[in-house]
Amino acid sequence: MTTESAATTATATVYGYPRQGANRELKKAVEGYWKGRVTAEELHRTAAGLRRANWRRLADDGVREVPTGDFSLYDHVLDTSVMVGAVPERHRAVVEADPLDGYFAMARGTREVAPLEMTKWFDTNYHYLVPELGPDTVFRTDSARQVAELAEALALGHTARPVLVGPVTYLLLAKPAPGVDGSFAPLTLLDRLLPVYAEVLADLRAAGATWVQLDEPALVQDRTPADLNAAARAYRELGALTDRPRLLVASYFGRLGEALPVLAKAPVEGLALDFTGPAAAQVEDLAAVGGLPGKRLVAGVVDGRNVWINDLAASLSTLGTLLGLADRVDVSASCSLLHVPLDAGAERELDPQIARWLAFARQKTAEIATLARGLADGTHTIAAQLAANRADLASRAGSALTRDPAVRSRTAAVTATDARRSLPYADRAAAQRARLRLPLLPTTTVGSFPQTAELRTARAELRAGRLDTAGYEERVGAEIREVVAFQETAGIDVLVHGEPERNDMVQYFAERLSGYLATRSGWVQSYGTRYVRPPILAGDISRPEPMTVRWTAYAQSLTDRPVKGVLTGPVTMLAWSFVRDDQPLAETARQVALALRDEVADLEAAGTSVIQVDEPALRETLPPRAADRPGYLAWATEAFRLTTSGVRPDTQIHTHMCYAEFGDILQAIDDLDADVISLEAARSHMRVAGELAGAGYPREVGPGVYDIHSPRVPGADEAAALLRRGLMAVPPERLWVNPDCGLKTRGWPEVRASLENLVAAAREVRATL
Ligand code: GLN
Ligand code: ZN
Repeated sequence: MTTESAATTATATVYGYPRQGANRELKKAVEGYWKGRVTAEELHRTAAGLRRANWRRLADDGVREVPTGDFSLYDHVLDTSVMVGAVPERHRAVVEADPLDGYFAMARGTREVAPLEMTKWFDTNYHYLVPELGPDTVFRTDSARQVAELAEALALGHTARPVLVGPVTYLLLAKPAPGVDGSFAPLTLLDRLLPVYAEVLADLRAAGATWVQLDEPALVQDRTPADLNAAARAYRELGALTDRPRLLVASYFGRLGEALPVLAKAPVEGLALDFTGPAAAQVEDLAAVGGLPGKRLVAGVVDGRNVWINDLAASLSTLGTLLGLADRVDVSASCSLLHVPLDAGAERELDPQIARWLAFARQKTAEIATLARGLADGTHTIAAQLAANRADLASRAGSALTRDPAVRSRTAAVTATDARRSLPYADRAAAQRARLRLPLLPTTTVGSFPQTAELRTARAELRAGRLDTAGYEERVGAEIREVVAFQETAGIDVLVHGEPERNDMVQYFAERLSGYLATRSGWVQSYGTRYVRPPILAGDISRPEPMTVRWTAYAQSLTDRPVKGVLTGPVTMLAWSFVRDDQPLAETARQVALALRDEVADLEAAGTSVIQVDEPALRETLPPRAADRPGYLAWATEAFRLTTSGVRPDTQIHTHMCYAEFGDILQAIDDLDADVISLEAARSHMRVAGELAGAGYPREVGPGVYDIHSPRVPGADEAAALLRRGLMAVPPERLWVNPDCGLKTRGWPEVRASLENLVAAAREVRATL
C-alpha cells in the first residue's frame, strides 16, 4: 500500500478538547457562580462561548468532525450520571429545586449532604465523580444537554459527533451506593441502563447526529468473561436498534486485548483504537481478528496524554497499514485532548528550539490534520510538514539536554549493590536505636506544616519582584523557627522543618533539577475547577546543587532533637510530571533516583540522621493490566532503593504514602526496604497496620492516628484508642505515632491542638507498656 496514490478520504477528528479556555475562563466562571458573583445565565453564556471557540479553533486547525458533549462544567462522568438520571437519594431534593445547584451539590457536597466520591480516571491525573448505584436504582433519560450541545455545533455549521461515556464503562466505573451491600456489582444494571442509552441515541439522531461515539476505555483493563459478555450484549442490543445514529465505539489508554474481537464482531459501524506506545501492537491485534471489514476505524496515532510531537512518518506508515484493515480510516489522538495543556505556542519563556519538541492540544490537532491530509491526498502534499517534523525529532534526539554523557554513564554503571543497604534491617535497626535513642512509640509528622497566607503571599511577592530573595528567605526562616519551637514544646520526638519553602512537593524539586522544564500556562484539569501545571521531564536529569540541605540543616541547628529531612521520591516525581517518551520510564526513574541519592548523601553529611522519601504515587501508577505490574514494581522499587541505599546503617530511612488501600502492593512496600513507613490509617481504624503485620512486614510502621483531611481535632483518647488497636498488630518497638499525611492544608490552631493530643496519646499508651 503506498500512500502516495491513496484515493481515500480520511477525516481528522478528536474525542475531546481542554475545557477551561485560554485564560481559564471556565474556572473563573464556575467559581464565581459558587461565590454568587456570576449568575447561572452568565455561567451558561461563558460555557457556550468556550464551546463555540473550541469548535472554531478545531475547525480552523483542520478538524473536520468536532466532538460535542465532551465539554463539562465539572466532570463528564457526573454529566453521564445526570444523563441517565442516576442522582443519589441524598442529592435529589436540591437537584429538583435547582438542577445547576444540584449538579454542583453532587460534585462538591453542601453543608447538609456529602458529595459523590472522587477517584482517578484510569491511570491519568484527571479525577471523576464516582456514580453511586444500587439494586433500586431507577434510570431516567435526560438527554437535554447532549441534544442542546449537538444543536449548538450544528447551528454553527460544524460536522459534529456527540461523545458519550459508554454504558459498560459507566457501570464499571460505578460503586455500590452507601447502604448497599458492598458485593453489589453495578454491571448487573446493564439491562436497565441500555433502554436509556437507546433513548439518548434516538434523541441525538432526531437532533441531526449521523455518528455518536461511545467511549469504553474500561475495556482496555483486565476484564472477566462476564464483563466481556456484558459488552457483547450491550453492543448487540444498541446495534440492533433501528432508530439510531451510526455508532463509533472508542477505546483508549491501551490495548483492548480480549475485548478487541468482541467489539470487532459487534454490529456497530466503527471502532476507535489507541495505536500509541505499547498499544501500537494493536495493528497486529487488528490484523489477527481479520480487521474491520465494512467498518470505520478511527486511528489514535497521536499520543493524547503526553506533550511530545508525533513522529509523523511513523504514524503515516501505521495509517498506511491500517488502510488495508478497515473500510475507512480516520485520524485522531489516542484519547481526549483533555489530558494535555492547550497551546505550546503560549510557552514563550522556553528555548524556542525546545518548544518545537512540544505538542499540546493545538499542536496535536494540527498533527492530526496533517496526517489525515497525507493519508488522503498523498504524502507529497505534506512534504514541508514532514521535513520540519524530521528536523525537530532530530534536534530532540541529538540535543545535549536529552543526552548528557555524565548522566548516561552514571545510570549505565548502576549495580545491584547500589540499590541495596549495606546491612540487613535488623542490624540497621539496632544501630539506629543506639544513635537516635527514641522512646517507644516515637512521635513525628509527615513533613509539611500549615502553608499560611503570609507564606503564600511572600511567594507571590517574590515572583512579582516586590520582595527580594533575602526578604523571602527571612520569612521562610522565621516560619521554620516557629515550627521547630512548637514541635519542641509539644514534645514531638522526630521533628521536621515544615516545608515552608515548597509550593508543591514535585514542582519544588523539578525547578531545582536540570533536565526538567516548567511551563507558564500548561494547565491541565485535575478535577472540577482544579488545574495543575505538571512539570515536564524533558532531558537527562541531574542535580546542579543541593536542594533541601540548607533549610533542613537550619532547622537542625535550632534543636537537639533529630530533624527529619524530607524529599519527594523518584516514582512520585515521574507520576506527577509529563514523562519522556523517548526512553523507558525505568531509565528516567533511575536518573531521578541518582540525583535524589546525592541529595540524601548531602543531607546525611550535614548531620541528618532521619531522611524521609515520600512515594504517595507508588500505588496510583500501578499499571491497569496485571501482566504489566511486576515490571513496573521492579523499576519503581529499585528507583526508591537507589535513592536511599547509599546511607550509613544508622541513618534511618522513612517513606510515606497517603493511602489506606495496600492489598496489591504489600510486597512492593517490603521491597522498598525503608526502615519506617508512615501511611494513612485514621479513617480505616488502623486496618493497614493489621494488613502489613499479617503479611509479615518486618520493619517499623506509622499508621496515621490523625485524619488530616478534616479540620476536626482528634481527642487524645481517640488517638490513644487507635494506637492500642495498632499495638494489636505491631509490637511497641516498631510502632510510630504520626498523622495520616502532611499538614499543609490545615490551619495552625487545629494542627497545634491535634499534635498536642497525639503526643498525649503516645505518652498515655507508652505508660501502659
Ligand atoms: N511530605 C509531604 C507533606 O507533608 C507529603 C505529602 C504527601 O504525601 N502527599 O506535605
Ligand atoms: Zn501523604
